[in-house]
Amino acid sequence: MTQRFLVTGGAGYVGSHMVALLVARGARVTVIDDLRQGHRAALPPDVELIVADIADQAALDAAMGGREWHAIIHFAALSLVGESMQQPMRYLRENASGGFTLIDAAIRHGVPRFILSSTANLFGEPDLVPIAEDAPLRPSSPYGESKLMIERALHWAGQRHGLRHACLRYFNAAGADPDGRIGEDHDPETHLIPLVIDAALGRRGELTVFGTDYPTPDGTCIRDYVHVTDLCAAHLCALSQLETAGKDAASVIYNLGNGKGHSVREVIATVEAVSGLTVPVRYGDRRPGDPAVLVAASGRIKAEAGWQPRYGELSDIVRTALTWRKAHQGGYRDR
Ligand code: UDP
Repeated sequence: MTQRFLVTGGAGYVGSHMVALLVARGARVTVIDDLRQGHRAALPPDVELIVADIADQAALDAAMGGREWHAIIHFAALSLVGESMQQPMRYLRENASGGFTLIDAAIRHGVPRFILSSTANLFGEPDLVPIAEDAPLRPSSPYGESKLMIERALHWAGQRHGLRHACLRYFNAAGADPDGRIGEDHDPETHLIPLVIDAALGRRGELTVFGTDYPTPDGTCIRDYVHVTDLCAAHLCALSQLETAGKDAASVIYNLGNGKGHSVREVIATVEAVSGLTVPVRYGDRRPGDPAVLVAASGRIKAEAGWQPRYGELSDIVRTALTWRKAHQGGYRDR
C-alpha cells in the first residue's frame, strides 16, 4: 500500500529535499507549511500543500483526520541561532508549542511514527569532539533549547502513548539537490555557505567572518557541514529503524554530520577554489550563541541503520550549492 507522510515545513530548505525523496520513492505526501520561509515552487505539483501554522490545532485536525499516516516528519520551525538570542521567548513559544501541538495531534490521530529535525545546538560547548549522542545536553541558544523541549515531549509521547520517534540532530545542513531542481533560499539569508557564494558572485558586499579569536587553529568557528540530500537519506534510515525495531527500541537518536570540521576560513577557501572567484571578506565580532566547534560523531546511525553519506567532501557540498545559486539568482522568485 502507498505510504502517506505528513511533512511539516516541507516547502522549506531541508523539508523540500525530503519531500522530493519521498515522492521519488512513490510515497503520498501532504505538506503543512505556513510559507513564511517555505516556497510553493519548491514542491512537486502532485504534493498536497496545506498553508497553515503547526500550532493551529483545527488545521492539523482537518488535515490529519480520517487518513492513515505512515509517519510525520517535522521540519517546521524558527531555526536561526542568532535570531533566537535576540527573540528568546518567541523561539521558545513558537517552536515548543508548535511541536507539542503537533505531537498531540499525532497521538490523537493514531500516527505511529514521528521524525524530528533536531540540532547540534543542543550540545552547546561540547567537552569532547566529535560529539556523540550521549554527550551532555546544554543548549547554547533558545533555538537549541526549543528543540530539546520537543525531544523531551517525544520521549514522553513514546513512554505513555507508544509514539515511535527519531530525533535527528543535524549539524550544518548545506548544499543543494545534485540535479539542481531545488536548493537553499532563505530571506534573509544568514547561513555561511550561501552567503560566501553570493559574496563571490558579487551579489552582496563583503562576507563578515563572525569572530577570529575562537580557540581553534585559525581562530574561526569550526562546523561539520553535511549535504542536505545525505541528511534526507538519514531520515529514511531512521524510519526503517522505527519500522523494524522491536518493542524496546521504539525510539532512536542520531547525530548527523560527516565527522569532519571545517573553519569559516576553510569554507571561504573552498568556495574560492570551486568557483575560481575571490570572496571579499571583513572580520567582525563573534555572533552570540555560536559555539567554537561542532563536529558530529555519526557512527551510531552508520552502524545501526546503514547510513552512508554520498557527498561527504566540502567541495561537493559547495559545488551543488554554487550550481543552484548560479542558476537561481533570485531564488524561487525566478520560477
Ligand atoms: N558565519 C560567519 N559569517 C556569516 C554567517 C555565519 O562567520 O555571515 C559563521 C558562524 O559564526 C558559524 C558558521 O559560520 O560559526 C556557520 O554559521 P551558520 O549560520 O551557517 O550555521 P549555524 O552553525 O549557526 O547553524
